[in-house]
Amino acid sequence: MPLTETIYQKSPVAIQNILISAFGYQWKKRRFGGIFSKEYKAAKNRESYTVQQWTDYQQAELQKLLLHAQAKVPFYKSSFDEKGITATDIQNLDLGRLEDLPVLTKEQLRKFCTTTLISTTKESNTSFFSSSGSTGTPVKILYSHSMHQKWFSIFEARIRNWAGVSSFIPRGMIGGRRIVADASNTPPFYRYNYFEKQAYFSAYHISSANASNYLKGIEKHKVEYMTGYAMSNFFLARFLMENNMQAPELKAVLPSSEKLSPEMRQMFLEVYNCKTFDSWGSVEACGMVSECEHGSLHINPDAGIIEILDDDLKPVPDGVAGDVYCTGLLNFDQPLIRYKIGDRMIRSSEPCACGRNMPVIKEIVGRIEDVVIGRDGREIVRFHSIFYGLEKIKKAQVIQEELGHIHIKIEAETSLTQEEENMIAQRVESQLGEMDISIEEVVSIPLNKNGKFQAVISKVKRQALNSIT
Ligand SMILES: [Zn+2]
Repeated sequence: MPLTETIYQKSPVAIQNILISAFGYQWKKRRFGGIFSKEYKAAKNRESYTVQQWTDYQQAELQKLLLHAQAKVPFYKSSFDEKGITATDIQNLDLGRLEDLPVLTKEQLRKFCTTTLISTTKESNTSFFSSSGSTGTPVKILYSHSMHQKWFSIFEARIRNWAGVSSFIPRGMIGGRRIVADASNTPPFYRYNYFEKQAYFSAYHISSANASNYLKGIEKHKVEYMTGYAMSNFFLARFLMENNMQAPELKAVLPSSEKLSPEMRQMFLEVYNCKTFDSWGSVEACGMVSECEHGSLHINPDAGIIEILDDDLKPVPDGVAGDVYCTGLLNFDQPLIRYKIGDRMIRSSEPCACGRNMPVIKEIVGRIEDVVIGRDGREIVRFHSIFYGLEKIKKAQVIQEELGHIHIKIEAETSLTQEEENMIAQRVESQLGEMDISIEEVVSIPLNKNGKFQAVISKVKRQALNSIT
């Protein structure tokens, strides 16, 4: 555990709030400083682009990216060479001929993300952001400050602004950061990040008994909208409703990470009396989808080029689900070209009443994850943080066999040590409370019956809980 993490975990709540605020200050400066304001204005301007203007914009950005990748990024230099792609080919390449370029798999990204996929010339201010993601394959993404600010300018202009909120008003977030030291049920289950006006709620303590403390945090910090894990937000709202607790009216709920269902939207409407705005993006920062005032999910063409393809890498027709391949237009230090991100989408042929010429997505599919349930009834999704920092892990799957038993399957480059296994087990218990935990190293983790990798499988259903506890 890093020293700062150790200090944080051993500090009282008041000091933890100060530490989180200090971190928030740096974080805010990083994302909203520098070129952010200029880029935000440019992103708002582009919203009125015609179809032709968007095509021209993407074409120009794509060419810059590809020429750079070929000249400066060893991975692309050799993969373009292999395919016989020259600089002249790139100069003549249009958006409709992306199929001439090789695709990038998640496994390739995992393998080369810190080496040959990095540009030989890059900005001075860069750092890696890690994610194991819901596909279970951990990757590291290199962000420069200016790239981060560009990404956030689009995020702010489209995801927050369209929902009628901003990053500068008080908000609540339910996420995977381990802000509460262990699984013990000692409130508060939230910490406050002063500079970002963000109340950060633990995703690991949401239960019927704890719901009142979450509500207290929402009220105390005058939360105006909620963000974070869709499922966790849903669990909280449902516990509030089941306990007849009156939640304040919010401006919006902006969930992320898992598939948003109509049932969740309805729950947020009933509990917080507000609309829900879906979105899609990822740590790879190579594609973004945001929901407009008319309820359509729009692709943001300035964040990245999104292709939706079948198994033969041919575009699927509108209305049919296909795999998403992203070409990020912002990151020149670690370009991701035709990257198979692991999600599936269905494109719509219907234009949106909002009038923006940004393609419409009918549905984002394939982000369903099973819910793991603690002995005390707490409900948790997204377990990838238990593998954080263990870079030898290629893929991992968490299976809840029964209420008190978690089985973990791991595909690793080299065997895990006993210490590493203990760390994983300890992290599971810190989220769920006491559990029987078994860890199994396997050659490969089988796909589910739909041919998809499933990061979390639970064989325990919520309905059955009353009869167990
Ligand atoms: Zn629209």
